[in-house]
Amino acid sequence: MKARIVIIGGGVMGISIAAQLARQTDALKEPIMLLERGSVGGGTSGRSSTILRQFNESRCIASMARDSLRFYSRFEDKIGRSIGFLRTGVLTLAKSQDPADIEQLEELVAMQATMGIDITRVSAREIRNLIPGAEVEAGTVGAWECSAGCVDSTRTLEAFSCLARNKGAILRPGTTVEKILVKAGRVCGVRTAEGDIQCEDVVVAAGPWTRGLLLGLGLDYPLNITRTEHLHVTNSSLKEAEAHSDPEFGMHGPESSGATSWISRDILDAALADEAGEGTKLGSCSEASVLHPTLIDPQLGFYARCDPLHARARVGRCSAGQATPVADPDHLDERIDDEFRDWVRATLSRRLPAYEDAEEVGAEVRMCTETKDSRALIGPTPEIKGLYLVSGFSGCGFKLAPSVGEGVAQMLLGQPVSAFEPEYFAPARFSALRVPG
Ligand SMILES: Cc1cc2nc3c(=O)[nH]c(=O)nc-3n(C[C@H](O)[C@H](O)[C@H](O)COP(=O)(O)OP(=O)(O)OC[C@H]3O[C@@H](n4cnc5c(N)ncnc54)[C@H](O)[C@@H]3O)c2cc1C
Repeated sequence: MKARIVIIGGGVMGISIAAQLARQTDALKEPIMLLERGSVGGGTSGRSSTILRQFNESRCIASMARDSLRFYSRFEDKIGRSIGFLRTGVLTLAKSQDPADIEQLEELVAMQATMGIDITRVSAREIRNLIPGAEVEAGTVGAWECSAGCVDSTRTLEAFSCLARNKGAILRPGTTVEKILVKAGRVCGVRTAEGDIQCEDVVVAAGPWTRGLLLGLGLDYPLNITRTEHLHVTNSSLKEAEAHSDPEFGMHGPESSGATSWISRDILDAALADEAGEGTKLGSCSEASVLHPTLIDPQLGFYARCDPLHARARVGRCSAGQATPVADPDHLDERIDDEFRDWVRATLSRRLPAYEDAEEVGAEVRMCTETKDSRALIGPTPEIKGLYLVSGFSGCGFKLAPSVGEGVAQMLLGQPVSAFEPEYFAPARFSALRVPG
């Protein structure tokens, strides 16, 4: 069997790349094939929190997140199926009340506003308006992105798959790549249990399994895997909101009933009507308050995002410092630590007292993959021609996947890369020590 390009991994990265490549290639003459050992989204992507925020210390990441958010917000109309896109608004607090941290946040907000990102610096009073009942000390500041939100991971992966298939890509779930085949320093194919597949280029988008595949080639890229836990919780307000919600979309609540009403899609769409121009007034969103917008709280070290479809909130740590390393991604300990449960309960209600009556309704353990400089690996390896890496996105891959898909397709098709700065992510910045293969 032959393909022009083989993509290993059916997470959000692999599937976004497949969709972009298939759109621009001839399905008969230069087939694009995606091989996934389980089911599409069965790795990290299917359980992602999918927060689509643009605020970032890196200009490069912020611009990718901005472009990807635009893509996601238009995806439903383009393909005529829902991806559960929901503008919850995202509020990121400054790291502390230290003047240096506040200044840093303000500079980033100012810089990102010039990039066409809909972002505003908010004061403690404005934060309390956005999240009624929040315990916020005077002097706290945050970055508020009214147009940011989240998607449903399963529906989004299905939508990408559908797009890729419609454009002629071959998606083969249930197919494990056992080995990447190399001849004279160039990729020539992949080995699967069903036989070898010849190809010109291989893209490794295998999430936490990427490092293992590369070690088989004698390449040791510094990809660390860590274990990350999150809880699903509900409370009386979330349950009440569910009782009033639209069963299909779960986001049309009782009108203007204070803190328990879900954001009405109409109000948000009106508030966001001018995507390219004047931006959105803060007031519009705070009036139509969801139970709360998505909150990223580096001071207490957690994030919380409402999941209206399931009348619950997802809560996890937002500081990587607490993560424990995973030695083997095939043997992940999926038990939740009691200490984590206690920490969530105490921390969440400290900032958001509405969660004092929170009940746990689910919990998950997943893996994050990160490089030692916290920048993903995207692009060709200098060691083996035709071998491309797309991995190491830590906790922010979902929000970047449309830009990554576009940029990787540009690279593979020999076009100028406009979707991101290739040097920023180049695998060549590391010397992948050769180890016995
Ligand atoms: C708990 C959690 C919350 C997160 N929240 C957010 C968020 O709010 N916002 C955000 O932007 N990002 C978030 N992320 C990060 C984001 O989800 C990831 O960066 C992204 O999903 C990574 O996608 P991927 O395609 O690189 O990897 P994966 O989704 O892991 O996909 C890799 C795929 O490769 C397959 N595979 C592996 N080996 C082989 C092989 N040999 N042959 C064939 N197939 C193979 C696997 O089965 C898997 O399906 C979160 C991550 C976690 C863990």
